This record gives sequence, C-alpha cells and structure tokens, in this order.
Amino acid sequence: MLDHNASVLLIYTGGTIGMIENPETGILESFDFNHLKECVPELKRFKFSIDTIQFNPPIDSSDMDPDRWCMLVRIIEDNYNHYDGFVILHGTDTMAYSASALSFMLENLDKPVILTGSQLPVGKIRTDGKENLITALEIAVDKDAEGKAIVPEVCIFFQNYLMRGNRTTKINVENFKAFNSYNYPVLAVAGTQIRYEHHLIRKPSPKGTQRFHYWLDPNVMILKIFPGISKDIVQSIFDNPQLKGVVLETYGAGNAPERKDLLEIWTRAVKRGVVILNVSQCAAGTVEMNRYKSGKILADSGVFSGYDMTTEAAVTKLMFLFGHEMELEQVKQQIARPLIGEVSIIE
Ligand code: ASP
Repeated sequence: MLDHNASVLLIYTGGTIGMIENPETGILESFDFNHLKECVPELKRFKFSIDTIQFNPPIDSSDMDPDRWCMLVRIIEDNYNHYDGFVILHGTDTMAYSASALSFMLENLDKPVILTGSQLPVGKIRTDGKENLITALEIAVDKDAEGKAIVPEVCIFFQNYLMRGNRTTKINVENFKAFNSYNYPVLAVAGTQIRYEHHLIRKPSPKGTQRFHYWLDPNVMILKIFPGISKDIVQSIFDNPQLKGVVLETYGAGNAPERKDLLEIWTRAVKRGVVILNVSQCAAGTVEMNRYKSGKILADSGVFSGYDMTTEAAVTKLMFLFGHEMELEQVKQQIARPLIGEVSIIE
C-alpha cells in the first residue's frame, strides 16, 4: 500500500546513474544531483515527499570505503525518525559490498534502505536508471495493512528484482540485469505490480531498538586460491602482523590443495588468532568442508566454513566483527552464525 503522506530520503553517492559524457574526452563523469531530478520529471508525480542529499563530490563506487559507509550510516541515523524509508543511489561496481556492510551496520532496521543505480546514465534515452529509481522509491514507502514497512531490510533493487543486500553479487558489466542473489530467493518482483515474498523478508525484533554501528576494521584480506598458487606470496600476506581475518575463496564445496606448505600456513595463522573463513569461488551453493578430504583438512586446521555466504558479505562481516574489538572467541562464535540473514547454515 502506497502511503501518500510518507517521505523518503534519497541519498546520491554517485555512479553511472548520475553521470554524463564529457564531450571532449568521452569519459563518464558525475554531474550535479539536480540534473538527475531534471532527467526524471516523473519524480514530481509522486504524492509522497522526496528529500535529497548528495555526496560532495559524488564518487565512482570504486572509491567506496569504510569511511563512506560510516557517512551513509550517519546520514541514516541523523534522519531516521524523519523519513519512512531511504533510497541510496550508488555505482554498481561495489554496490554489493556496500549493501553487505550496511546490513551489519544498521541493526534492527524497521524501515527500508534500498540501494539502486543503473547501467546507463539516467540522461540516456534507453536508461535503466529511471525504472530502478522509481520502483526503489515506491518500495521504500510501501506499507502493510498495519502501517508497517513491508521491507525493513537493506536491499538492492535492480532490473525488476528486490534482493537482500548481503546476498547479492554484481554479475554483469553490460546487461541491465547486473545483480544476482544466488543463494537466497528474491524478496520481490516488480512487474505490473510489486509482488512481495512476505515470508522471506526479515522483520525487526519487537524488543530490540535500532542501533547504528560505525566501527569497521580493514585489516582483513580476500585470497582466491588457484592452481599453482605460490607459497611464498601467500606466506608474505600471512606474515603481516596486522592481519586479523582472511576470506579464503576455495574451489567448489570448499576445497583447497592438499599441499603441506599451504596447510602449514593456515594452521600457523589460526594458532596465532587469524580467523580464516572459507567461501566458494562458485556463485551458487554452499561450502561443505566434510564432503571431500581437500575440504576436511581445512576444517582440521581451524578454518571456518562460510557456508553459502558471498565474498562481499564475508569480508564486510569480518571487518564489522573485528571493528567491535571483540575477544577472538566472540568473533569466532559470531562468524559461525547468521547475524542478519547473510548466510544459511546447513549442517
Ligand atoms: N563505475 C561505476 C560505479 O560503480 C559503474 C556503475 O555505476 O555502474 O560507480
């Protein structure tokens, strides 16, 4: 149900949606947000109110980082009571990382935070940006019969699909369907109507209140295994005394070479307190470390299963947990359980 008295805060961080071609160089550059509103006159037809705020200057999402995630959390916290929902316009390149990070940083949300963007700038005739923006705004104010937000989650809306943010991955550079949620079904499909899958959408805990988190520790690493990976290079990464967590991207169901030199590195790192989280290089499916010997030896060396978590969710979860200066044992407990629907644990 669209609440015509509702209000949305539209936060423009940058990205293709708000870019224009530099006539001299042909390079896409960000333009002032007011141009975006000129390009989407349909926004004026919404009965609910839309306020806007923009990063100054807007950024290509390649420059997104923990400080800017904190800026977004700050904007949302400061405005939380004044709006029914939030839409974040964001470049597609790192949108899945931002959606994952924000899902951990915005605790017990009872309002929607919807990220969207586009593959073609909104000024181009064939743009996908208008559809994405207009539907994201509708979702941000949609309420149920009791007047509660239908989607109180951090989500990505892109090309007709609403997905849980921390389950998404960017899958295509050109196609309008730029994101997928391989291991969790979509939360809604927008056709002639927006059809919500109510049973799949998280609801806030009635006893909890909203908490806004600002601490992230960047002393983590993503390491993708490949045939012939050099022991010396891996060793040099693990030798760094600052290193606290590693997302190990393994093969298939969580398998890595049974090489003694690598096993020694994982074992020594775990002993010294580095948390290693095993996620699959495959986009769909889950890590099962007890399925093959090459996975079991990782489990035996103290590596944690990341089950069906995306790399984006795994790395931001490590940043979030270590950012809270928890005891190592606490981090280990939290890493192995879902915090905000980012993982399905199948034993
Ligand atoms: N490079 C752009 C960005 O991520 C791409 C996009 O918006 O689609 O900011």
